[in-house]
Amino acid sequence: MNKLKTVAFVGLGKMGVPMAQRLMDAGYDVIGVDASEAGCGAFEAVGGRATTSPTDAVQSADIVVTMLPNGKVVADVVHRIVSEIEGRGVLVVDMSSSAPADTRALADALPETVSLIDAPVSGGVKRAVSGDLTIMAGGAKDDLSRAMPMLDVLGNQVIHCGPIASGHAVKAINNFVSASGLVAAVEALQLARAFGVEGDTLVDALNGSSGQNNATLVKMKPFVLSETFGSGFAAGLMAKDIGIAADLSRDLGLDLDLLQRMERLWAEAVEALGGDADHTRIAEYVSAHSRAKA
Ligand code: NAD
Repeated sequence: MNKLKTVAFVGLGKMGVPMAQRLMDAGYDVIGVDASEAGCGAFEAVGGRATTSPTDAVQSADIVVTMLPNGKVVADVVHRIVSEIEGRGVLVVDMSSSAPADTRALADALPETVSLIDAPVSGGVKRAVSGDLTIMAGGAKDDLSRAMPMLDVLGNQVIHCGPIASGHAVKAINNFVSASGLVAAVEALQLARAFGVEGDTLVDALNGSSGQNNATLVKMKPFVLSETFGSGFAAGLMAKDIGIAADLSRDLGLDLDLLQRMERLWAEAVEALGGDADHTRIAEYVSAHSRAKA
């Protein structure tokens, strides 16, 4: 029987709102927190309670979930609430895509009575809504066991990657692979169209062949070919994740060519498109860029 039932959920953005809503619907007593009135309003619009004050929100919480832009913001929030939560067995679960170095530093700074695990997710807004996220966790087994009933509400797969920050490392590595697959797919689209092949035809061919990947399956038709660019995942967040993976490779003394190229490409794309642009707009950047070079 799960004993953790009162959740302070910090970060009511595109992912946070549907995740907090699922917890509420599953019977958790959830209080949402967001720095912006818009975030609070979005959770209230689906029947949630929300506040801009993390210190107010954690008063009766036995679990604190963070779903924030990055690990620096997470550390800021957790340091602000630590005196409110220490000594009563509160578990902090960082589900943001944070840098492993930030997560380790936060874990080292916390008092022993506050436990932290990292549990970043993959699957995007659609799978946050349906509760089918893949969750990559790092931290002590006992702490993960305590979080499991809640994580089971949010995801259909929880992979324990290792000690604290391992989930965050694996998440950044995943997004490097995912971003590279999307760039391959949009470059393929450029090439096919230049040859005179329709986009739909190319995507159908790739999806029935060995060139199939997550981007060809779930991003190309709904967001790129339709030109709606509405996946709900910002280009700035993707560039952040690839930067995390690239920093990790440098810290570990690895010279990885494709990773470095992806880091540069996504940083330049964010310069051109703006960090809030949907990440599938990389197709527009690649298209303009390939023509500029031709
Ligand atoms: P988002 O920008 O939509 O939401 C972030 C929310 O955090 C915003 O509502 C913002 O107001 C709030 N916030 C920022 N600083 C705050 C602070 N100091 N205190 C309280 N609230 C604060 O981002 P998102 O797309 O929901 O992503 C959240 C995290 O999940 C990121 O780390 C991202 O990389 C990761 N992620 C996103 C997706 C996706 O498809 N959108 C998928 C997997 C992982």
